[in-house]
Amino acid sequence: MLVGALAEPDAFRGMLDSLEDGVYLVDRRRRILFWNAAAERISGYEASEVVGRRCFENILRHIDCNGSRLCTGLCPLAYTMRDGVPRSGDIWLHHKAGQRVPVSVRVTPIRDGAGQVIGGMEFFTDRSRLVASEEQVSTLRALALNDPLTGLPNRRYFELELNSRLAAVRRHHHSLGLLFADIDRFKAINDTHGHDVGDMALKMVANTLAANLRTGDTVARYGGEEFAILLPLIDASAMTGLAERLRMLVRRCSIDLPAGGEVSVTLTIGATQATPDDDAAVLLRRVDEQLYRGKRAGRDRVMTDVRALKG
Ligand code: GH3
Ligand code: MG
Ligand code: MG
Repeated sequence: MLVGALAEPDAFRGMLDSLEDGVYLVDRRRRILFWNAAAERISGYEASEVVGRRCFENILRHIDCNGSRLCTGLCPLAYTMRDGVPRSGDIWLHHKAGQRVPVSVRVTPIRDGAGQVIGGMEFFTDRSRLVASEEQVSTLRALALNDPLTGLPNRRYFELELNSRLAAVRRHHHSLGLLFADIDRFKAINDTHGHDVGDMALKMVANTLAANLRTGDTVARYGGEEFAILLPLIDASAMTGLAERLRMLVRRCSIDLPAGGEVSVTLTIGATQATPDDDAAVLLRRVDEQLYRGKRAGRDRVMTDVRALKG
């Protein structure tokens, strides 16, 4: 069946298009022969934009959890076509709009009747945290608690949520992490590439942050190019780990400019943990100090409150 899929992908289109998983098929030279409907949805690239191209030609730009590029050199699919052994792993793909989408991938070889590997197939499952249901978004919109550009909750919503989480910290001594992320030298992006590209970069950052949090976390657009993230029930080292992961993923996002070239941005992130004595203003001031410490130290870094690390 797989051989048939490789030789005549269109005959299998209906079946492969009905899958929730993204699927694509490549020949031995890693030329993409087929790209199903879920692959279009998850990556933002239509089949017509990728079929016929080779998968390492700056399309997928997969990275691993350390931010290392997987598509240049020998990718998992290339290894699998070489040794015939299926592989799987959690990686991040590049969405057409720039953001980093977390996916689980499985790659398998495709063999002809004689057992020779003649191509490969990759399945990918979207691991994005469900950002918000349509219902939640429309409720937020109705209450004017939603940022129209990014679709994220806005500052007002964030402050309501922060106050209710702080009440749980006081009452039940629950832990609560707070991150404050600010795009580095964003004014220069607007000045160099224009406001529309700036807006695209804001959406790319918002989508990457939202997709890569845990269920129950809240990310809001707090101000122009500032995002606040609430992390209930997290210890200081997991909080710093998550902040570093978000920083790396945003760094590895890119917008393709119509005239050629790419635009990327970096984040400086302040991190702290709430204590039962904190009110919202004290906590926000503390996280802001960390953010500015990060800016002064050269940007593109995470700065964590030492008290939080000790606690
Ligand atoms: P730093 O590394 O110190 O944070 O430098 P910065 O340039 O990011 O800081 P600054 O606060 O000077 O600039 C923030 C810029 O964000 C200025 C403003 O034009 C831009 N900005 C704010 N909101 C929006 C928006 O909705 N769309 C666009 N395109 N730009 C925005
Ligand atoms: Mg700012
Ligand atoms: Mg900034």
